[in-house]
Amino acid sequence: MQNHIENSFRNHFKNRKHFKLPKFKKKKDRQSYTTYNVNNSIKVDFEKNILYLPKLREGVKIELHRRFDGKIKSVTISKTNDGRYYASILVETENPRNKVVEPKSKACGIDLGLEHFATVTNDFGSYKLEHPKYLRLGEERLKRLQRHFSRKQKGSKNGEKARLRLARQHAYITNACNDFLHKLSKAIIDENQVVVVEDIHVKGLLKSRLAKSVADSGWAKFLSYLKYKAEWYGRTFIQVDRFFPSSKLCHRCGYKNDDLTLNDRTWCCPVCGETHDRDVNASVNLYFVGLGRPEVKPVERALVNDRSPHGLPKKPSCDETGSSTAKG
Ligand SMILES: [Zn+2]
Repeated sequence: MQNHIENSFRNHFKNRKHFKLPKFKKKKDRQSYTTYNVNNSIKVDFEKNILYLPKLREGVKIELHRRFDGKIKSVTISKTNDGRYYASILVETENPRNKVVEPKSKACGIDLGLEHFATVTNDFGSYKLEHPKYLRLGEERLKRLQRHFSRKQKGSKNGEKARLRLARQHAYITNACNDFLHKLSKAIIDENQVVVVEDIHVKGLLKSRLAKSVADSGWAKFLSYLKYKAEWYGRTFIQVDRFFPSSKLCHRCGYKNDDLTLNDRTWCCPVCGETHDRDVNASVNLYFVGLGRPEVKPVERALVNDRSPHGLPKKPSCDETGSSTAKG
């Protein structure tokens, strides 16, 4: 499109570092084209699962991910490097969002971790969410395929087959991971009015030895989903600043344990005698921030001594959602 090349040059001259000069597409890149709906040249037959495009009278058989209402604006057809075709359809509609549900819980605090994906505390108690198992298994398969691919001769037929298998596994993991994070973030946003998370930059730095698993666990993606979904559904999203010691504060009496090390999974408060699970305690502190007034800085609030101990009931139900959606 003429528009695209113009934009790309304009961006380049505005900010040379961020926007490089436009390049020609490489064959192995994700290839795509966008076509606009003029005179109803684009249609979808929901019964037969057929997409009609300009110049393609018979239409193409598609696997429809969901139905939609409204006027089709454009369709972008893309081919991913794992050899699949996707059509993404831009639709103009009057009600772009799903229904907003009434939150059951006033607030929740989320501590992200390596041992568990997340520890969550809300009005009903605390629960831990496992890392989805299929992701770990998927990664093992990914490593194996990577080895196979690297042993094959470049450009050979078997090499190409191995490349496809590897790309497909990559796509599977990305899709499965996104699916898990979308469902989890949606469930949390539905359930809570205020969602409080920590500053993960600190966490990333602290655990830099484990950088790979940090990247893999998709924390940043998860937080960005929570953030925009909170905006969509009228919830409050708070990310406490990096100086808020969510793990070190005793949630019962407010004592700050400066001796806490990364290896301490549990600790006992010398002031009130409470024994803490590190992750649960951190998520309770974040939950308390959510209950307080958001305009008060978390650090100030956390150091207030008059916090009454909360009897937090146990909440065993923990929805681990997620399913694979690698389709083609
Ligand atoms: Zn204490």
